[in-house]
Amino acid sequence: MQDLVIAGAGIAGLTAALSFAQDGASVRIYERSARLDEVGAGLQLSPNVTRILARLDVLDRLIDQAVKPEAVVLRQASTLAEVASVPLGTAAERRWGAPYLVIHRADLQKALVEAALEAPGISLTLDSTVAAADASQGGIRVAIKSKGNSTTDRADLFVAADGVWSNSRAWVRSDASSRFTEKLAWRTTILADSEAGATFAAIGATSAVTAFMHSGFHLIAYPIRAGRAINLAAFTPGKALAKSWNGDADPSLLQTALRGAAPALAEMIDRSGPWQVWPIYTVDASLPWSRRGGIVLIGDAAHASTPFAAQGAAMSIEDAFTLAGAMTEGGLATLPAWESQRRERVRKVVRRGALNQFAWHASGPIALARNLFLKSRSPDALAADLDWLYGWTPPGWDDGRSL
Ligand SMILES: Cc1cc2nc3c(=O)[nH]c(=O)nc-3n(C[C@H](O)[C@H](O)[C@H](O)COP(=O)(O)OP(=O)(O)OC[C@H]3O[C@@H](n4cnc5c(N)ncnc54)[C@H](O)[C@@H]3O)c2cc1C
Repeated sequence: MQDLVIAGAGIAGLTAALSFAQDGASVRIYERSARLDEVGAGLQLSPNVTRILARLDVLDRLIDQAVKPEAVVLRQASTLAEVASVPLGTAAERRWGAPYLVIHRADLQKALVEAALEAPGISLTLDSTVAAADASQGGIRVAIKSKGNSTTDRADLFVAADGVWSNSRAWVRSDASSRFTEKLAWRTTILADSEAGATFAAIGATSAVTAFMHSGFHLIAYPIRAGRAINLAAFTPGKALAKSWNGDADPSLLQTALRGAAPALAEMIDRSGPWQVWPIYTVDASLPWSRRGGIVLIGDAAHASTPFAAQGAAMSIEDAFTLAGAMTEGGLATLPAWESQRRERVRKVVRRGALNQFAWHASGPIALARNLFLKSRSPDALAADLDWLYGWTPPGWDDGRSL
């Protein structure tokens, strides 16, 4: 694959550009935003994708801003009692062959952009919306709108990495809609050396990813920005809001939803903010991701899922890297096989997210059974349950090729 156009300079689009360019392709990315702002929240980057970021020479660029958490710790939000702990840190590196990191999305995007701008063969044009793509004779014709002007580009392949509210999806499948899950993600960042940060440290979780579980909500907390800040993301039921990362949120809604949290947790939440809210939409992964002729969806555009397995960005990176490998190896003919392999993997991740959601929001006897089950398992056994996810390597990885 020599020549391609990508819609979107998010995690999927930038990783695709780097992966294809590493294989010698010429890549043009068009990004709708005029600036790549600090949008998004903290991300957990598991070993299945940190190994890919290392191969794309991105890991070294972000490592200073990332944190290697020592464990994922599950706690009851009502009592703060620990229910289970999965070892990460050096244990993760030993077990899964690459580090488990936590980072702000903006720091990952910055590292990807820097690598893309230095790579030969990649151009990035901001303030440019991909408005249409048609498979025509001799490739794909892509229409771009930029500052009131319309232009056309041509490529062998069009990669739509335009996120959960993708307009490209309509060029691939008849049902292009995304579905609101009636759940909201509330997000804020607190400084480690602030009052809220001190309250958080008293709960004892500054070096781990902590999930506080409750029947009405769950809250995930972990350090970012080399430990200078703590990312908080709370998940509650809620009504649809503006489709963006930057919806300002009324904290009283969050405080009401978090009734039942232990006093120290409630105090930390009171001291944190401002909170921003993101309505959680999903995209049906079972519908087509690609169209004959060379139009393909990746990342959230193809299969946005709930964030409860913390794998949305990870699946975007896996999609991007394996797509480049498949195209380099066998061209467009490999697209159906690539799509079905990726669909299978994404489905498994979606099932894991649903299981987490069920377990974390359990109440009464189900919560008791969950706690007994988790306490009966050793940390090593809990880690082994994740081997299929974090120990994954792209096809052909050991040969140094992606397929
Ligand atoms: C609260 C929360 C926590 C999360 N935590 C994790 C986690 O811990 N780990 C993890 O792996 N994932 C996590 N995720 C999921 C992750 O953030 C997403 O899956 C990931 O960012 C998707 O990347 P993407 O590149 O597909 O889409 P985006 O990052 O949304 O990028 C799409 C880009 O396309 C651009 N665009 C849109 N339309 C057009 C157009 N027509 N033309 C040109 N450009 C266009 C947009 O401006 C944007 O820059 C979380 C999500 C949420 C909500």
